[in-house]
Amino acid sequence: MIQKLLIANRGEIACRIARTASGMGIKTLAIASTVDRQAMHVLACDDVVQLGGNSPLESYLCGADIIDAGQAHNVDAIHPGYGFLSEDPDFAQAVLDAGLIWVGPSPSAIRSMGLKDTAKLLMQKAKVPVVPGYHKVDQSLAVLQQAAQDIGYPVLIKAVAGGGGKGMRLVEMACDFEAHLTSAQSEADSAFGNDRVLIEKFIAKPRHIEIQVFGDGQKSVQLFERDCSLQRRYQKVVEEAPAPHMPEVVRDAMGRAAVRAAEAIGYSGAGTVEFILDCNGPLTTNSFYFMEMNTRLQVEHPVTEEILGLDLVAWQLLVAAGEGLPKTQSEIVMHGHSIEVRLYAEDPKLEFLPSIGTIHHIAFGPGLRVETGIKTGDVISRFYDPMIAKLIATGPNRAAALQTLLRGLKMTQIAGVKTNRDFLIALLQHPEFVAGQFDTGLVGRDQQSLTEVTAPISVDWALAAMVSMELSDLPQAVGMHGFSNFNSIRQQITLLCQDQTKQIQVTLNGADASVEVDGSAVSLHRGLTGWFIEGLEQVSAIYAARKVYLFAAQTLVFDCPDLLARTTFIKSDGAIVTPMPGLIKQVFVKVGQEVMAGDPIVVLEAMKMQHTLRSSETGQIQQLMATENAQVDAGQLMAVVIPLVEDD
Ligand code: ADP
Repeated sequence: MIQKLLIANRGEIACRIARTASGMGIKTLAIASTVDRQAMHVLACDDVVQLGGNSPLESYLCGADIIDAGQAHNVDAIHPGYGFLSEDPDFAQAVLDAGLIWVGPSPSAIRSMGLKDTAKLLMQKAKVPVVPGYHKVDQSLAVLQQAAQDIGYPVLIKAVAGGGGKGMRLVEMACDFEAHLTSAQSEADSAFGNDRVLIEKFIAKPRHIEIQVFGDGQKSVQLFERDCSLQRRYQKVVEEAPAPHMPEVVRDAMGRAAVRAAEAIGYSGAGTVEFILDCNGPLTTNSFYFMEMNTRLQVEHPVTEEILGLDLVAWQLLVAAGEGLPKTQSEIVMHGHSIEVRLYAEDPKLEFLPSIGTIHHIAFGPGLRVETGIKTGDVISRFYDPMIAKLIATGPNRAAALQTLLRGLKMTQIAGVKTNRDFLIALLQHPEFVAGQFDTGLVGRDQQSLTEVTAPISVDWALAAMVSMELSDLPQAVGMHGFSNFNSIRQQITLLCQDQTKQIQVTLNGADASVEVDGSAVSLHRGLTGWFIEGLEQVSAIYAARKVYLFAAQTLVFDCPDLLARTTFIKSDGAIVTPMPGLIKQVFVKVGQEVMAGDPIVVLEAMKMQHTLRSSETGQIQQLMATENAQVDAGQLMAVVIPLVEDD
């Protein structure tokens, strides 16, 4: 049994591994780059080694330093997670050479699946169907061109060392072949230091179906399939198990082929055999082809765990420690359905560019299994993958799992960075996805509509205005307790959303508010959990770092551009209220004093700035609550000005 485990990774997968290891009584050692000093994976482990540096090359890819750290801390095993060093056979070998347990397959198994062309040749030998194509060493232009011609257009050029869709090009016509080849080769060379390519028949309507396998070094079992066809630029976005509308005979044939693939290389541990399924026509046992094998734990492994009720990390640790496979094939039975989405810090409107920044607020909806390594206050940096979390929902059937996932996603709140949350919500509601009839081209075809942003309507502006006043969280909000004798209070708030700026008038009256947006009035009421509009579903909303976030099917973000502008009193019964918490620096008036509209009443120091609160009325100070050097909350009444009654 492993006593102490070094987790050579970060983020959600390091947290995930730490959770299982701790549950098994195994001590855990984290590694951390400089920016990750306080990261969740560090907190999840018993001990940590600071690697220094921030880029992966200076930290999570420093194999020798990681092994040294493990030895210095007396670990007996290293789990690589996924990505980073997980599929580096030299690192696996170095771990073994250092006398440590490597939680993964043998270096030779990793190596044999490392290049797509040699893997395909190996699979052909093991009688696993591969996509028709050219996998040979001769890379001369004429030979490759001829191969493409023989396969028949359209073809796919793939870097043999490829991954993540890099070095991959679709060629539709012979005349484009050379140009695409050159660009695939140069991309492959710079990404992998290997410009060799293979040519494959392009399957026009493919599904990406992969089989989870688990080996003990000789025998393997298969843990059924995952459908990962919802992809964006060859990157998975939604994964589910089992695959919808999968005929039992095809499932069975794919499972057997995956076991043959794993056993052909004496596989040990968790692995995934990826197949492409040709959906042009009915699915048969001849519809699938081997694409590649990933010799590690896969990002989307939780959906498999969910339908099988088992822990793949526990299996990995047991098998690595020399124990047999925990279950036989006949004991592996699936129940229900599970779907996962990958929530990323990225901007769908900017071609999904990573969104760098601080997470001011993070809360996940109910009913979900959440795998994350991010907490409030963490920074999504440019150094690592911008995934925020994997959200997984499981149910007795696909419709139930989908419903739970949608509900959970809609109630998920992230503030501080842009995310693909709304895109995921749209995707999960796409009719083809709902029907379980989709292929890998769905996202690309419908990206425009899936990333469409709708403009806020009056009720959104009205709600945002109320939230911007930060009154929702204050039990002693103005007008609610004891101020009713001052009648209503009217304020003007400026908000900005999607390039629109609006001046919004709010009239507060106890737990009711009347908000004027573009000349029309919206009535809001304050309930137990915040402001709502009669007859409409309550929208969850937060205020963070001078932005209001409304989380419905779409996230609306409103900027509060100027703290003073949003609380300038334009007309009221003369109530002067603090716009934010702070310190009263100066009081300019006395009770009974006459003031003109615009005269300063108090100076409030807040957020290291001084704000002058002015009277909007010409009149007389009837009441004065402000005292110098007093700490005040937002929404606190400072003074009341009443109009002077003219003598006639
Ligand atoms: P990588 O290792 O770069 O991720 P893969 O070989 O795993 O590349 O393929 C990634 C994705 O590209 C697949 O999931 C599938 O959507 C698509 N793809 C791969 N091969 C083909 C093919 N022959 N025809 C059509 N689509 C393909």
